[in-house]
Amino acid sequence: MVMGDLVREVDVAVVGGGPGGYSAAFRCAELGLEAVVIDAGKRLGGVCLHEGCIPSKALLYVAGLISAADRARELGVEFGRPRIALDALRRWKTERVVGRLARGLASVARSKGVEVIGGRAVFESSRGLRVEGDEPQKLRFAHAIVATGSLPVRLPGGAPPSERVMDSTAAVELPEVPERLLVIGGGYIGLELGTVYAALGSRVTVVEMLDGLLPGVDRDLVQPLARRVERLFAAIHLGTRVTELADSGAGVEARLEGREGETFDRVLVAVGRRAQSEGLGLETTRVRPDARGVIPVDECCRTEDPRLYAVGDVTGEPMLAHRAMRQGKVAAEAIAGRPSAFDNRAVPAVVFTDPELAWCGLTEPEAHAAGRPVRVARFAWAASGRAATLGRSDGLTKLVIDPASGRVLGVGLVGPGAGELIAEGALAVENALRAEDLAATIHAHPTLSESFMEAAESLLRGA
Ligand code: NAD
Repeated sequence: MVMGDLVREVDVAVVGGGPGGYSAAFRCAELGLEAVVIDAGKRLGGVCLHEGCIPSKALLYVAGLISAADRARELGVEFGRPRIALDALRRWKTERVVGRLARGLASVARSKGVEVIGGRAVFESSRGLRVEGDEPQKLRFAHAIVATGSLPVRLPGGAPPSERVMDSTAAVELPEVPERLLVIGGGYIGLELGTVYAALGSRVTVVEMLDGLLPGVDRDLVQPLARRVERLFAAIHLGTRVTELADSGAGVEARLEGREGETFDRVLVAVGRRAQSEGLGLETTRVRPDARGVIPVDECCRTEDPRLYAVGDVTGEPMLAHRAMRQGKVAAEAIAGRPSAFDNRAVPAVVFTDPELAWCGLTEPEAHAAGRPVRVARFAWAASGRAATLGRSDGLTKLVIDPASGRVLGVGLVGPGAGELIAEGALAVENALRAEDLAATIHAHPTLSESFMEAAESLLRGA
């Protein structure tokens, strides 16, 4: 077909097939709207499924197995040194984990009648867009949802074009297990993938520009993780920048501020992600991304252009898949004329390291910074029966409580399984439960979830 021959009419054009985009398209279809997804890779799942959350968590599961086997020695069980077949590991991750989920999404799309068009969408007005690439065509839409996600931030000064210098996408491909890996950035990605490579046998050095790992996260939660990664990683340099990277052929020479140069076999750059709103033709609409490329939206995910909505990472922080999914559903419902708003109090955050960190709602440092009086209850997992049976007592459960009403405003967790446990925190914060409600709820014994009840009880005892 010659581009421009025919203009197809749809109710909703969704640009980007990641968690925000496919959730929006599926919800539109459920509400009787014809929705198409335009995705450059003609795939659903986006970065999250194909090169982010899912493959990295599959690799972290393997890292956890290796570390549990290693720890078992203290309990009198010896497995010996793990032998890692990289090909088999990659195949499992790519085919059995990512591939299976991708096929599942494609079949959901078929069953809901959501078509996925391969190509890049470029807006030509507030009513139309063209698709460039594999399946060129023009679409006229009643509404569009921009769900184009985010891209890795490049290193200031740039990085040499070298196979040895990876972003997170390249790193989850697991090209090899380098002997010496430099991780630039001590945030979510740096610590998660650093953990994977260290477990597989790399000597990992982490360089973080600010003066602590996971900047912005409650230090009470970070401390147990910091203690553990100090043992797991070969070195952690805080308050340090990488001033130069050069591929010498035999390795990457890295110059670290205030230190001697060092050579690494591979480098992972994980210095943040930025909203992806360039090249979309948004100038032909009324959408105006801010200086960081973020598209401003209201509580219905509506942009300044009444026909355009935006969801997910392109709308800014927190850049988390589950926020994007919720926004996608809200946008679809708003377009369908339903009363719907992204008014969630709790967007849980999880760092899937060992121990895991998770939090939601108001954090203690945020309360202090805002001058808001709060009561804080802490329960150290050293006193948890379940933690003892797991050989892990390095956890903590923290509740941030409103002193006047007793309402749970925020929850922070660190410890194995924190990512699953935070669901109770999100439920408590979202539904305005009080410390009393947590204390009076029977939590199964022995489980780590009892720590919520214990923390709440400690607060009530002190009241
Ligand atoms: P991040 O913001 O978590 O961490 C980036 C880190 O790099 C920061 O600590 C920053 O201080 C540091 N940094 C920046 N420039 C630097 C420099 N020149 N030298 C050294 N350090 C530097 O970002 P990320 O780890 O790249 O992750 C991006 C986003 O992806 C996160 O914000 C998060 O929303 C999402 N993500 C989430 C998960 C999860 O939910 N478990 C996992 C991975 C990524």
